[in-house]
Amino acid sequence: MSVAAVESITSTPAPETSSPEARMPSEIPSRTNLLDCDQRALAAFCATLGEKPFRVKQLLRWIHQVGESDFARMTDLAKALREKLASHAFVQAPDVLKDSVAADGTRKWLFAVGAGNGIETVFIPEINRATLCISSQVGCALECSFCSTGRQGFNRNLTTGEIIGQLWWATRVLATDNPQSGRIITNVVMMGMGEPLTNFENVVSALYVMLDDHGYGLSRRRVTVSTSGIVPNIDRLRAQCPVALAVSLHAPNDTLRDMLVPINRKYPLAQLMAACRRYVDSAPTDTHPDDVLPEPLQGKWQREGSPRDFVTFEYVMLEGVNDGLAHARELIELTREVPCKFNLIPFNDFPSSGYRRSRPEQVRAFQEVLQQAGLIATVRRTRGDEIDGACGQLAGEVQDRTRRALKRSVGTPL
Ligand code: SAH
Ligand code: SF4
Repeated sequence: MSVAAVESITSTPAPETSSPEARMPSEIPSRTNLLDCDQRALAAFCATLGEKPFRVKQLLRWIHQVGESDFARMTDLAKALREKLASHAFVQAPDVLKDSVAADGTRKWLFAVGAGNGIETVFIPEINRATLCISSQVGCALECSFCSTGRQGFNRNLTTGEIIGQLWWATRVLATDNPQSGRIITNVVMMGMGEPLTNFENVVSALYVMLDDHGYGLSRRRVTVSTSGIVPNIDRLRAQCPVALAVSLHAPNDTLRDMLVPINRKYPLAQLMAACRRYVDSAPTDTHPDDVLPEPLQGKWQREGSPRDFVTFEYVMLEGVNDGLAHARELIELTREVPCKFNLIPFNDFPSSGYRRSRPEQVRAFQEVLQQAGLIATVRRTRGDEIDGACGQLAGEVQDRTRRALKRSVGTPL
């Protein structure tokens, strides 16, 4: 996961995103990209056109379910409205620069997001589900020492349109390639580049469109936000959009976590564990303040039952750094009060990372210690290796722009 030097990447011609007339000429800034709009923003936009709120559902269905970007083809809209839309709006995802497919079916798209920067999106097909891993920022400010995105510093937040545009694009391309298959993407994980909870508003707007039955209709259990532990925004997510939560733990004590995940100095483990506990405890169906939700989502909480009743702790396995059996025992103590599952992630290397992947037998021994304590602990299978599609590997070359690179001495076994 990193900021790409897009210029240096050989581009693969992208399939046509939309008819030329539906694409946004960038010289007309007054037009609205409807991918930037969640339900509320679409309602406000329709109001400016003098249109009724029920148009929101129609537009959501055309854009996100049919994948249509050409208003002229939205046949159940009155011609006058289609013309108004064509002059005031457009539907456009970021341009695709590269499209790579690995032997295991993992597919990765590199999108251009301006100023020579790129973001990546990874599609991971499995037997019973297919997951899209989405980016939320260009780069990341949080400088986790083992993460290539963190090594490259922060560039900017993605807009709602750039976030949902990744799902819109992938859904469309996969549907074109597999016309008989129905809905292909069953799960979304916000585990691409960036820290989703430091781009809160845009991420939540995009989540609302993912969850909406007129949008992508995904269950909250099948949409996961992964965070390095932005405690106040874990609480805001719980209140506003309690989807499944994954927390990048990576260390069982503050001393080690301060070094691996520097945001820990601001929100140490005691605060993080308390926030995780609150997340699981108080996102029940019946107390959710529906009135803060956009209208189409109201009632969804009751209909779907409770969100996940556990937090997933992600734990990257770094040889000689955090993979000792004593670390596993410390983890059991640390997480005692939090209903949780562990996902052990084999470290994915990138140039000059300074870390090494733990040996498989060490990962197994670590897993067994957790399992013997009654915890569910799985080992994440590495996918899409040859296209650098695995966690922490996105976007090719790594340009080390952070101060951290200069002072990196944290458990460097090499
Ligand atoms: N910023 C968020 C989400 C993006 S990172 C977060 O930190 O949770 C998604 C996951 O990939 C996180 O668990 C992160 O710690 C992990 N990751 C980052 N770099 C990695 C690497 N080099 N190898 C394996 N996992 C990595
Ligand atoms: Fe940012 Fe997540 Fe990478 Fe840490 S692991 S630098 S929070 S993207």
